Amino acid sequence: MSVARTLLLKASDSKWLRENGTRAPFVRRAVSRFMPGESFDDMIAAARGMAAEGVTAVFTRLGENVGDLAEADDVARHYLDGIDRIAGLNLACEPSIKLTQLGLDINRELAYGHLRDLAARAHAAGNYLWIDMEQSSYVELTLDLTRRLRAEFPRVGVCLQAYLYRTREDLVELMGRGIGIRLVKGAYNEPADVAFPRKSEVDANYYALAQVMLDPGSRAGGARPVFGTHDVQLIDSIRRHAAATGVAPAEFEFHMLYGIQKATQLRLAQDGAAVRVLIAYGAYWFPWYMRRLAERPANVWFVAKSLLG
Ligand SMILES: Cc1cc2nc3c(=O)[nH]c(=O)nc-3n(C[C@H](O)[C@H](O)[C@H](O)COP(=O)(O)OP(=O)(O)OC[C@H]3O[C@@H](n4cnc5c(N)ncnc54)[C@H](O)[C@@H]3O)c2cc1C
Repeated sequence: MSVARTLLLKASDSKWLRENGTRAPFVRRAVSRFMPGESFDDMIAAARGMAAEGVTAVFTRLGENVGDLAEADDVARHYLDGIDRIAGLNLACEPSIKLTQLGLDINRELAYGHLRDLAARAHAAGNYLWIDMEQSSYVELTLDLTRRLRAEFPRVGVCLQAYLYRTREDLVELMGRGIGIRLVKGAYNEPADVAFPRKSEVDANYYALAQVMLDPGSRAGGARPVFGTHDVQLIDSIRRHAAATGVAPAEFEFHMLYGIQKATQLRLAQDGAAVRVLIAYGAYWFPWYMRRLAERPANVWFVAKSLLG
């Protein structure tokens, strides 16, 4: 792992930086590259803009490691309202949540109660509920709650991270239960005893897992295969593999982050691929933004440029 990535990921956990850094106007200007704004309405406007170009959406209100019951309730209410509002707008826009945002650090059953309410509301609205994956210490619990939820609601998916050694086993087991999988490389700072330390190994594992996800046997339970990546080479390899093995473009999807590789998003959509963009919004953007910088340390230059300009 590069030194820059490690430092940026360490900074993402810094309370001091979060409290002080986010007040700097140049940081706020730089973050707008990845975030259409802080409000739900800003997200909706961005989703409408993308829909006009053939790209549907996933939405997430930024936040994690909520340590207060009232705040977790507030987050759940926000998503319930959001699901209702989207249902009235005739917009393809799916919620994606973090379990620690729903109070997982406070109490597991409390978080599950909120999760269940969101899945029920999404189900009633004909929508779908995505569950993000956080640090490796949360994986077991996140998957347990996802399985429990899937036993009640069919339209549920979870993110799995290709950097973890355990993911191949999880992927096969979860797809067997008909749980949707959004495969990503992984955004956190993980030790070598749980995650591949080298990027080349993560990339190779991603492609190997993608092939498993496209296999008709894996998809027999109705699981939805989603590739959450901006890696153009990987995207092209996955599409080539799908074409060579007779998997139609409508049978799998690419999800990317708002503001990253927009030209690729549009090219894929024009080319008949199913593409969604994940739009993040909200006031609690610091750790999320630092992870985006860590993914491409060259992004730090964008921050530096906005400081100067
Ligand atoms: C829809 C979606 C949902 C996600 N959900 C989760 C989650 O729940 N848990 C989790 O751990 N991670 C999540 N991630 C983040 C993911 O783990 C990676 O950190 C991130 O996607 C970067 O990896 P990559 O696959 O794009 O490949 P990389 O090899 O990192 O990047 C490939 C190319 O994409 C471009 N690129 C990538 N990132 C950036 C960036 N930040 N800024 C500018 N250009 C960039 C660059 O051109 C780069 O060369 C999610 C990502 C996506 C797209």
